Amino acid sequence: MNQMKSFVKWLGLSLLAVIMLAACGKDDNGPKEGNSDEGKKPTESNEKLKVVTSFTIIADMAREIGGDLVEVYNLVPTGTDPHEYEPLPDDIKAATDADVLFYNGLNLEGGKNGWFFKMMDSVNQKEENIYSLTERVEPKYLGGEDGRDEEINPHAFIDPAVGVKMAEDLRDALIEQHPSDSDKIKEQGDEYVQRLKDLDAEFQERIETIPEENRVLVTSERAFQYLNDHYGLKEAFIWEIDTEENGSPKQIKDLIHYIEEHKVPVLFVESNVDTRPMETVSKETDVPIAEKPIYSDEIGNPGDEVDTYIKYLEYNMNLIHDELSKER
Ligand SMILES: [Zn+2]
Repeated sequence: MNQMKSFVKWLGLSLLAVIMLAACGKDDNGPKEGNSDEGKKPTESNEKLKVVTSFTIIADMAREIGGDLVEVYNLVPTGTDPHEYEPLPDDIKAATDADVLFYNGLNLEGGKNGWFFKMMDSVNQKEENIYSLTERVEPKYLGGEDGRDEEINPHAFIDPAVGVKMAEDLRDALIEQHPSDSDKIKEQGDEYVQRLKDLDAEFQERIETIPEENRVLVTSERAFQYLNDHYGLKEAFIWEIDTEENGSPKQIKDLIHYIEEHKVPVLFVESNVDTRPMETVSKETDVPIAEKPIYSDEIGNPGDEVDTYIKYLEYNMNLIHDELSKER
C-alpha cells in the first residue's frame, strides 16, 4: 500500500516537474527521457545499482537476479536475529547511499516501529526506493491464544511458492530502478523465478510420496507455517516466534502433550536456535531429533553447505522428505 501511495506521490511530483519545465519554456531539448529527477541512478551499463537488503535470503536473491549489474550490501548477517537488530555505522552509510532497498515485510524486521523503518527514517531514504517483497503474500497469523494479540508470522520465504512472488517483485523493482538494463535483468529474473517454480513442483511431488500419517513438521519456532499449509503438513512447535520466551516449561509441556496425542516420527531443530528445549522434548517422548538441523531465518555464509536461497530450499526439502519417509 505504501509503495502505491509513494508511487502516486512520485508520479505527481514528476508531472509537476514536467509541467514546470514546459511552462518555463525550457523545451528546446525537451524533458529528458525517463525520470526527471533520478539523475543519480545508473544510466550507463557499467555503473552498478547500489542495493541494500535487510537479511541474507533477500541479499542472495538480489545477487542472483541483478548479477553484475548490482552491488549488494546486506544488513542482518548470518547468525543474527532479523526480528531485532541494531544497525552498525557501515549499515547506516550503505542505506544512505543506496539506490534501492529491499526488506521482507510481514513484521520480519519488527514492523513499522522496528529497526528497519527507524533506520530508513534516520537516513532520509526516499520511500519510492524502498520495496517490501511480500506485498502480494497473504499473511498468516500467530497467537491469539493465552490472551496474547495475534501477530503476523514473518517466515513466508520458507515456502518456495512465496519465494516465487518475492523474486518476481525484486526483478520488477530492479527493472524499474535500472531501466537501461531491463532486458538483462528480466532474463536473469525470469530464469531464477523458473528455478523456484520447478522447486515448488518438486517439493509438492515429494511430499506426496511420504506416508500420510508421517506428514507432520515439529520445529522449535513456528516458522514453517506457510510451508506447512502449502504442502499439507501438520505442524507443532515449542514457541511461536523467537522474540517471545524460547522454551518455557509450559511451552515444552504443551508440545509433549501434542506428541502424546499425535503420531510424530521425528523432531526438527533449526540451525539458529538453542537446541536444549527440543532435546528435553525428545528425551521425554522418545521421539528422535533429525540428524541435521533445518534452516529457517537465514542462509549460511559463502562456502557453507547452504549458502544460497535455492540451496536452502533444496536442503530443507531433502531433509523433510528423507526424515519423514524413514522407516523407524
Ligand atoms: Zn524466526
